[in-house]
This record gives sequence, C-alpha cells and structure tokens, in this order.
Amino acid sequence: MYFPSWLSQLYKGLSRPIRRTTQPIWCSLYRRLVQSSQRRNPEFNSFAVRTNTCGELRSSHLGQEVTLCGWIQYRRQNTFLVLRDFHGLVQVVIPQDESAASVKKILCEAPVESVVRVSGTVISRPAGQENPKMPTGEIEIKVKTAELLNACKKLPFEIKDFMKKTEALRLQYRYLDLRSFQMQYNLRLRSQMVMKMREYLCNLHGFVDIETPTLFKRTPGGAKEFLVPSREPGKFYSLPQSPQQFKQLLMVGGLDRYFQVARCYRDEGSRPDRQPEFTQIDIEMSFVDQTGIQSLIEGLLQYSWPNDKDPVVVPFPTVTFTEALATYGTDKPDTRFGMKIIDISDVFGNTEIGFLQDALSKPHGTVKAICIPEGAVKILKRKDIESIRKFAADHFNQEILPVFLNANRNWNSPVANFIMESQRLELIRLMDTQEEDVVLLTAGEHNKACSLLGKLRLECADLLETRGMVLRDPTLFSFLWVVDFPLFLPKEENPRELESAHHPFTAPHPSDIHLLYTEPKKARSQHYDLVLNGNEIGGGSIRIHNAELQRYILATLLKEDVKMLSHLLQALDYGAPPHGGIALGLDRLICLVTGSPSIRDVIAFPKSFRGHDLMSNAPDSIPPEELKPYHIRVSWPTDSKAERAH
Ligand code: ASP
Repeated sequence: MYFPSWLSQLYKGLSRPIRRTTQPIWCSLYRRLVQSSQRRNPEFNSFAVRTNTCGELRSSHLGQEVTLCGWIQYRRQNTFLVLRDFHGLVQVVIPQDESAASVKKILCEAPVESVVRVSGTVISRPAGQENPKMPTGEIEIKVKTAELLNACKKLPFEIKDFMKKTEALRLQYRYLDLRSFQMQYNLRLRSQMVMKMREYLCNLHGFVDIETPTLFKRTPGGAKEFLVPSREPGKFYSLPQSPQQFKQLLMVGGLDRYFQVARCYRDEGSRPDRQPEFTQIDIEMSFVDQTGIQSLIEGLLQYSWPNDKDPVVVPFPTVTFTEALATYGTDKPDTRFGMKIIDISDVFGNTEIGFLQDALSKPHGTVKAICIPEGAVKILKRKDIESIRKFAADHFNQEILPVFLNANRNWNSPVANFIMESQRLELIRLMDTQEEDVVLLTAGEHNKACSLLGKLRLECADLLETRGMVLRDPTLFSFLWVVDFPLFLPKEENPRELESAHHPFTAPHPSDIHLLYTEPKKARSQHYDLVLNGNEIGGGSIRIHNAELQRYILATLLKEDVKMLSHLLQALDYGAPPHGGIALGLDRLICLVTGSPSIRDVIAFPKSFRGHDLMSNAPDSIPPEELKPYHIRVSWPTDSKAERAH
C-alpha cells in the first residue's frame, strides 16, 4: 500500500492569514474569535504516548529516538515489519540478537493488524534498499523495545485498498473498513472542508453557529418524516427534514446570519444513493437577495476547496429552469460536456415521416434531437439502438429515430431514408454534426421530448465512455446555478392541485406576484439550486416574510392546514426581516470532491440502501412491554408473522 503525501496536502494552506472582521461594537469579541482560529500545521503527537506518527519520519530524523504506535501492516521473513497509522507506513527492523529475544518474539508472533508500540532509533536503510515509492522509504527503525497493545484475531477481510470486498461486508465491519486509506482520506478531507467552511462563515463573515432541535413536530408538505413516539398517548415528535422553520425563526429573533452543520432526516424508503439521515450545511441570512446568497456560496466553496484540486472559478454560470429543461432535459444538467438538445421542428415542416407528422400536427408538438459524437463508429451497434428505443417506449411512450448523417449507414432505420436531402443538410448545419456522428431524434410535447433526450444524453455519454471516449474530465468540477424555477408544480397524484416546487416558504419572483391571484401555475419563484457535474448539491430561496402572503399560499393555493404552522405565521407578523438562505448537501458534495462511487463512502457509519445499519442491526425490534409507556402496539403484517416464527 502506498500513502501519497495526501495528509500534508490536506493540511497545507491552513496557515493562510485570516482577514480581520471590523465590526465596531463586537470588535474585541470578534478579534478574540479570529485569533483563536489562526492555526499552524496540526500537532499530531500531542498528549499521546508516541513521539511521531508512522508516516512522518524522513532522513532529517536520522539518529532520533522515537516511539511509534500503529497496526502491523505486514511482516517479511521475521526480519522486517511495516507499521501503519493514519499518517503512513514505516519499516521496522526486527532485532535478531539474543539479548533482544523478547522484542523479537513480540514482533514476530503478533498477527497482522495487531496494535503495537515500538521504541528505537531512526537509521538510514542500507544503500540500494531505499524504497522511493514510500515517503518514509529512506529510513527504518532499529527497535529497542516493543509492546503488544492488542492482538488482532483473524480478519473478515484484509485491510488493503486494492482488496475487493462486498459493500455489505464493509458495512458490517465498518470499524475495519475505516482503516483503509480511502476512508481515512475521505473522512479527513470532509473534516477539513467543514473546518474551512466554519472559518469562512463565522470568522470572516460573522455567521453564528446555532443548533436547532431534532425533536420537532410534523410539518406540512415535503418529504416523509420519521416519527418518534412520546409518552403522551397518540402524540409523536418528528425528526425534521431540515431546520427550515427554525432558521427562519432565528431571523425573526435577530440572529441575522445563521449557519449549522445540520443533521436532517427523510423517510423516503430505499433509494440507492440517499441516506435516511444526512448532513447539510444550512445557512440563513437577513437583508439579502438572491445574488447575495449566490456570492456567499461561491466564496464559501472557493475558500473551503481542497488544496490538491484545481481552484474553484467564480462566479458560477447561471441558467434558468426553462433553459435547463430545453437544453439538457433536466433541472440538474451535467455541463461538463455538450450533446445539447436542439429543437429541429422547423426542419420537418413538410415531412413524410408519420410519427413526426403526428407530433407536429398537435398544438405543442415539437421535434427535438441530440447529436452523439462519433456515435456511428463507437456506440450505435444494433443492440444499442434497440435498447435506446425500448427505453424510450417503456419509460416515455416515445419513438426514437436514429439518423446516421452518412446516408449509407442508415442500416437500422428504414424510416431515416424518408429524410430528404435538404433536411439532411439542414440537420447537419443546425446540429453541427460530423460524418461519424449519429443524431437521435424524437417528437412530441416539449417537456416530454426534452426529458427523454436528457436521459438518453446521459445514457449515451456512459456508453461512449465505456467504449473509450473521455467526455467528462474527472478532474473537472462544473458548477451551475439553476434559477427562476416555477413556484408551484402540479401534484403528482392529482395534477389539478398544486405543490411547492421547493418548499412553501419560498417567495415568488417579485415581477410575478400578481400571477398568484390569477394564474399561480405561471408564477416563478426566488428559488435557486446549485448543481455540480449533474448533481444537485444545494438549494435555497428568498423567503416569504409577509404573514398574509404566506397564509394565502399555504391555505388557498396549497390547501394546507395553517394551524400546523401558526407559530411561524405569528412570528412573521412580529417584524420579521426580509431573509433568505440555502442548504448544501454535505455528503453529496464530499462524494463528488473525493470522486467516491457512493455517498456511503464519505459517511463514517452510513445506512445500507435499505436504511439498515448492518453493523449494529438497526432498526431493531423492541419487546412489547417496552412499547407500553408509548401506548404503542405493533400490528404485524400477516406474512411477517411467519417470518418472525423462524
Ligand atoms: N431547507 C431547504 C432544503 O433542505 C433548503 C433551503 O431552502 O434553505 O432543501
């Protein structure tokens, strides 16, 4: 195993000078806060019974007497031992002389992954035996004393990053999985980024870190919440899906710049890359507008961005929700590559192709297409075309027509032969296609056609990449603001009713307020999302601070029970300042920064995708007598009775 100098990369830059805050009244308090955050490189050995970490020793330490603690990584022919801690690896020479027989016995008999403490001298490795791949590769430790701190039993898997192990096993033995370089890197990088975020928010911009309750009550709308029984019959707390109401109430309370590393809970059932509990960097500010929040977040990410990555370039580009949908077929576009959706309705005004004719004869009918670069040679094999068509039919009830611009290659689509020469040339011009590209064409209602092509754009990008083309540079971080969302969307289960596109506290766009009373579906909101490489990593809004408007939206437009929110509505009536905020999804952000395959890889103790803790076996059953104080009895589904009997 090779440890790069990741740790020093992580900590480099922490000694950057901190700008002073010049608030007049709180000046001295701030100065003290700022001073206390001025940091040097961290001291890794303070308070511990070691003098050095395993990874830090170099030729400059030659001759020093050191004490190290670590895990036995491996042993070679009873002569060398490699000791590991979070900082790296170091080679230890096992003494062979009679007088050190007890030391030799400890170091030769302790199984791999046992914890030992050794003391000895740093010596240089004999000429020719240096290991340039190891940062400590020029030196080794000549041991004088050794102590077995704890022996390790036979492991369920080897602690080596390259060893393949199932995720279930990793989660079952999470404490062992955490010993891997990758998990160490992910969690330490996470801690560093959060530290710098705190520094930026609190010390540079006067935010106040405030904890809000996690035992709360049911709130209308939004995701499903976890319930917590109380001892009062029939009464439940609920775990908040975010500190939304509290952070707005803090604004009413005059704490005009709030932030929290907030734990949030959503009972959304099993989803492969979601967690029932997750962490947000939650922010709220008074006297701010949308651009203010956007600049704050750009600065926050720039400041906290890891030093081993290319710096974040600000300001981030912005697209409207409508543009995003029309160009990428989604409100979270991956802008690292092109393949944009193009409206080609005009090309097919007098087409003979039936399904295009059909679509264009309808009021909002369109023809849309994306161009797959080099698709003709790289991806569109017969079976790919079939699976693309099947996907379109099964999921969108839409037809897809693949068009090879080199007419001779239209082997798989006789329909494409009905495309006239003039149409072919116009397509080439509009879509800027090359000889070996393939155009995927569909027709229908705008949103549906765009959503389908948006999905195919990503599918085809995956396909192209599995066949060797690099479309999405893995070192590129492409941030994007999506703005001007609609305030409301039709409810999925009953499209004639409305639900909030973000949440019910989001303010309407100032120029659309009149629409709330006439055509609410058309009103835009002051909601903004932050997207990174095709993932939503944050979202927020300017809030409604007028009680009357909030009540109208809740009661009249959303048909919610306003009694449940009377505390908030009341607060808005007592001089609530204009305010707005945002929350960044910390797990997803760190997952993208570290290039991890799953958000579970950046959480110390995550749940499985079914929401289970495979290590402790939560959630677990509770004996009926312990449920009594909560006035709860389990009503077992019939088939699980049989299961329980086993
Ligand atoms: N509370 C919102 C969310 O969790 C974020 C916000 O509006 O600030 O999505």
